[in-house]
Formats: sequence, structure tokens, C-alpha cells
Amino acid sequence: MGFEAADVSTFIDRQAIAARVAELGAQLTKDYQGKALTLVGIMKGSVFFLTDLARAVDLPLTVELLGVSSYQGGTETTGEVRITSDLTKPMADKHIVIVEDIIDTGLTMKFLLENFAARHPASVKVCALLEKPARARVKVPIDYKGFVIEDKFVVGYGLDFDEKYRNLPYIGVMKGT
Ligand code: 5GP
Repeated sequence: MGFEAADVSTFIDRQAIAARVAELGAQLTKDYQGKALTLVGIMKGSVFFLTDLARAVDLPLTVELLGVSSYQGGTETTGEVRITSDLTKPMADKHIVIVEDIIDTGLTMKFLLENFAARHPASVKVCALLEKPARARVKVPIDYKGFVIEDKFVVGYGLDFDEKYRNLPYIGVMKGT
């Protein structure tokens, strides 16, 4: 069932993703009882995770999207992040959870946390589907974490290689890498 790619081997299958997303949703539901929650998805990678996560949260909530792009120096990120599509609503006094696909070096999330602090929300927490601690260059708090993975380049469930593979319903690794 679903799209398969011959050059990608399954790393985290769709059942395991669905089970973990349900757990994260239940945790958010518990932690944000009585509060107005705003999920901010970071485009494009987290959009697939965001829509599943939002449906696993049993609370009234709002969804916002923020587009960012990292400047690449060769294959490594330089840590210089640029907003390509900004939020459409003020974040002041809101309870925000930033939803990200993967935290690799941590530089993007560091930038985002500094950027959000300047918007004066009531609170900011981080929810990341994946964390690759082996490559961390800065320490960022991850309040809600899906899976901790080893140092592999993963694709699928929103994650791309050259804009492709986002629609794989599982997380996979490119064969031969
Ligand atoms: P960081 O700033 O933490 O180094 O990078 C975060 C961004 O790098 C992620 O949002 C994602 O776009 C990209 N990234 C990091 N690791 C991977 C990976 O294994 N696969 C894919 N497809 N993108 C990744």
C-alpha cells in the first residue's frame, strides 16, 4: 500500500510513525488542557508530520506555517537561516509548539527559538519527529521527540532529497548511502 521507491529502504515504517504520532498527540493533549495551542509547522519538511500530529491532538488548536531556508556551504549547513515565508498572525501571548521534521545540527532550531522569543509568545516548545544527536553543533531543547536516529540521511514522510521522496508514507534511507 502507498508509494514505494525502489532506491529507498524502509527505516521507520508507517505503523511505527503512526503509533509515535498518536503518543505525541496524546502528550500534547494532556499538557495543553485548558490552553489555546498553536502548532507552527516549518516548511516544507514538517508539513506531513504536522497534519497527522494536529489530528492526534484532542484540543481546539490553530495551525501556522513558517518557511525557512538554510544557506549551504558545500554539503554542510552554514547555520545562516533565512525566512522565506513568514507567519500571517501575531504570536504574542500564544502557546506555541514549533513542529519540525528533523533536528540535525540544531542550527535551524536555534535560529527559530531566537526568532520566536522576539515575538513575545506566552510559551514556546519544540516538537521534532526525528533527532540526529551525532551531528548536533548546538544544544536545543526538544520537548516532544518522535525518534532518535543514527547519522543517516533519511527521506520520506515530508523529508526530501532534491525535492523528491516527500510523499513516501514511511521514513527511508537511500540505498547505497
Ligand atoms: P539543522 O539546522 O538542524 O542542521 O537542519 C535541519 C534541516 O536540515 C531539516 O529541517 C531538514 O530540512 C534538513 N535535514 C537534516 N538532516 C536531514 C536528513 O537526514 N534528511 C533530509 N531529507 N533532510 C535533512
